Amino acid sequence: MTSPYRDPERACPACKATLREFRGRLCCDACSGIMLGLADLTMAIEQLTRIAPDVKFIDDPMRGEAGSRNCPHCAATMTPCRLDVTLLEDRPKLKPELDRCGAHGVWFDNEELAKVLEVLRRAVSPKGGGGAAPSGFIEGYKF
Ligand SMILES: [Zn+2]
Ligand SMILES: [Zn+2]
Repeated sequence: MTSPYRDPERACPACKATLREFRGRLCCDACSGIMLGLADLTMAIEQLTRIAPDVKFIDDPMRGEAGSRNCPHCAATMTPCRLDVTLLEDRPKLKPELDRCGAHGVWFDNEELAKVLEVLRRAVSPKGGGGAAPSGFIEGYKF
């Protein structure tokens, strides 16, 4: 018997392993990638920096592996993009190249999300001080 509540298997866009759902996020135990909704990402940044961020994606369709990754929620081909976060006057440089689904959010490869959060944290820390992140906050985004 099949249950109507059972989701189809969700495959990791990077390594095709089965993803694990964790608080509405999809995580890959095999490669440590994570799929996050835009609202979830915005909230995480706001919790960390205490500043409501302006989060945008800059699409980068010319990137090499364009079209090679599929959204684990809907299987649509994801759009290669970069993340653009504005915190008040600050616009920290964020390097990771990401893949996003217009409907479901953005995929971060292995520890890219933790790296992004660390850059943002430094951007809002007092000069030279480098205040500590809330205990375990960034670790919570590593899997
Ligand atoms: Zn994976
Ligand atoms: Zn999708």
